Amino acid sequence: MTIHLRKLPMWVWYGWLAPRRRVCYACSRHVGGFLPYRSGWRSVSDAMRVLELNGSDLDNFECPRCGANDRLRHLLMYLDSRRFFERFAGARVLHFAPERALVSRIDAAGPSTYVLADIEPSSDRMVRVDMTRMQFGDGSFDVVIANHVLEHVHDLGAALHEVGRVLAPGGHAILQTPYSRRLSATFEDRGIDTDTARHVMYGQEDHVRLFGANIVEEIARLSGLVATGRPHHEELPDVDAWRNGVNAAEPFFLFRRT
Ligand SMILES: [Zn+2]
Repeated sequence: MTIHLRKLPMWVWYGWLAPRRRVCYACSRHVGGFLPYRSGWRSVSDAMRVLELNGSDLDNFECPRCGANDRLRHLLMYLDSRRFFERFAGARVLHFAPERALVSRIDAAGPSTYVLADIEPSSDRMVRVDMTRMQFGDGSFDVVIANHVLEHVHDLGAALHEVGRVLAPGGHAILQTPYSRRLSATFEDRGIDTDTARHVMYGQEDHVRLFGANIVEEIARLSGLVATGRPHHEELPDVDAWRNGVNAAEPFFLFRRT
């Protein structure tokens, strides 16, 4: 994890000095709080505010001890609660933009194949995979994980078609993505082509769309998969979202190949 100098006092305070009333699900450490993403919700545009962008909790983003972000902590909770790690044993797993804390858990579960995929691999273990044109045969995987990846992919239709294609019957795709409940449909426009415009209109410089309230139906339609995900309060009813620093408004986008 990289600590920016201006966040150093906050990092020390939340990580070591403040009363440790919160807990990081990724590293199990008790912490005083979580570090914001940039300046937290203050750094988002008015457009994102009125559209109620729903993704990461920008004010409670990063664990000061292990660096795990809130969407990873939330996903780990979900995978544990659904006993997903038991399913990873002997399974063929394709994991895009792999997060370190999740990789170690999946490794420990003993998958038969585990591909760490990225369009720009950052380690020897990672394989270069273009989500819109994968080098794998039909039905090659039992699980595909792409946690906050789809909002970065230019050709959404091609990417989701490929996810559906490489999944074996009975396989699952976990496709967490930020979206706006206020938008009736996914919004993207070729004219939004600068960092500033993307930050204002999509919420981040490297996002290429903002999904709308039809996100689940859209992903299902483009991938040919069946939606089986549910909201936080149904999946994790007993979790104290504040204590764990997770976004209780973030649903789980789980899809299954029939
Ligand atoms: Zn942690």
